[in-house]
Amino acid sequence: MDFENSYQMLINGKLVSTPTNFEVLNPATEEVIARAPCATRDLLRDAVTAARNAFPIWRDTPIAERQRVVRQIGTAIETNADALKRLLTLEQGKARAGADWEIDGSAAWCAAISEQSLTPEIIENEKNHFVETRRVPLGVIGAITPWNFPVLLAIWKIAPALLTGNTMILKPSPFTPLTSLKLGELVQSIVPPGVLNVLSGGDELGSWISSHPDIDKISFTGSTSTGKKIVQAASNTLKRVTLELGGNDPAIVMPDVDPTAIAKELFWAAFQNSAQFCVAAKRIYIHEDIYDAVRDELVTYAKTIKIGNGSHQGTELGPIQNRMQYEKLKDLIADIKSNGSKIALGGDVPVGQGYFVPITIVDDPSEDSRIVKEEAFGPILPLLKFNDINDVIARANDTHYGLAASVWSNDLALARKVAERIEAGTVWINEVHVFGPHIAFGGHKQSGIGVENAREGLAEYTNSQTIMQRQLI
Ligand code: NAD
Repeated sequence: MDFENSYQMLINGKLVSTPTNFEVLNPATEEVIARAPCATRDLLRDAVTAARNAFPIWRDTPIAERQRVVRQIGTAIETNADALKRLLTLEQGKARAGADWEIDGSAAWCAAISEQSLTPEIIENEKNHFVETRRVPLGVIGAITPWNFPVLLAIWKIAPALLTGNTMILKPSPFTPLTSLKLGELVQSIVPPGVLNVLSGGDELGSWISSHPDIDKISFTGSTSTGKKIVQAASNTLKRVTLELGGNDPAIVMPDVDPTAIAKELFWAAFQNSAQFCVAAKRIYIHEDIYDAVRDELVTYAKTIKIGNGSHQGTELGPIQNRMQYEKLKDLIADIKSNGSKIALGGDVPVGQGYFVPITIVDDPSEDSRIVKEEAFGPILPLLKFNDINDVIARANDTHYGLAASVWSNDLALARKVAERIEAGTVWINEVHVFGPHIAFGGHKQSGIGVENAREGLAEYTNSQTIMQRQLI
């Protein structure tokens, strides 16, 4: 069964409509699929007041009850998984396998986070003196999410924030608000009024949230440029921030790997979710001994991949999610052609409906070309040759990003040495895109501040509080 095609915001436990709303498109057809409410400043104020009022009660609710609520959110996702997956594909464009990964993953995340807790640390336990450091929730969290994984990235914030006793205002991207609004509807009867509020609107809603004096922290996933604006806005009230930002992840392929076997792995490392993935491999450095073989195998494999409307059976990769990103990618392709780089595959954007960009593989462009330096965030991949380890590590690190990276080799000891010299928050060896509720994830350099997931991620929704006590008599 599908959801009804009506979308409302969740504020203080009630579903709220607005007189003005905005269109949401299916990126595969450019047809309007629904209209989403457009929050006003007054509605944001109502939501913050509700979240603020709910905070002390929720904070003092026993952890077992908060864990139960987080688990129930996961159950609601699981129960409505089919409808959520169809809606996700409609608004985001991703194919069914991608929707399965995201929605099933969101339910699993809630289940796993609901088992977590932060135990206090006893620092001193002497006869006359006792010192304990414990974690206390921050208050009201503003969660702002992007359009590539709208449900999973929202859950990465909702589950730990609520578990640790905070209340929340969630604002999805204006390009993909529908699944988040439905999530709000689904949890209406699970989460106490005011504890989770879901508001949709344009980018301005994001800036109202990040400058709001009664919001204590911004947990943001999105671009580095927006992350910088959030830090500026948050500085007014010294809000805490967790920022998961852009990346330009290098993959380093050593000469001892089998080109045929590695090509398929590298393909998905780069093109999963049509490469609209913060941790997609965005520059692949291949040792010169196997460069031609890996390039040719990659091209051969890429030709077998079916791109199309994510709702159609057999589609493996969907369209680009929105026109702005689609135009940016067309501009990058024009730049590649004008600077004379060789194109091993793709490069011709079809005319017609939908934001479709073909898988495009660029054959050893110059290191300072835009496709190497910028985060494409779409299916255009530069392959680059190297012959010296020190040189390739320097090139891999020559970026202001530092989100993730991968090293591919049969020599694990050597791969490990290389991995340790990469400036990134996550370095995978012979795998990519492995995440977990128990695995800390976050960017170095301008890819972010702080981490999500694991104990460290949970702690980011808290302040440290030290209690010391002395016996008087
Ligand atoms: P974006 O920065 O344009 O938008 C993200 C969110 O911020 C949206 O909800 C948007 O409405 C809101 N926003 C826009 N302007 C704002 C402002 N001034 N103040 C507050 N909020 C504002 O990013 P996007 O295009 O939606 O997502 C793509 C980017 O996200 C890529 O750079 C990608 O690498 C990054 N990303 C990072 C991660 C990660 O975990 N590090 C994960 C996914 C995506």
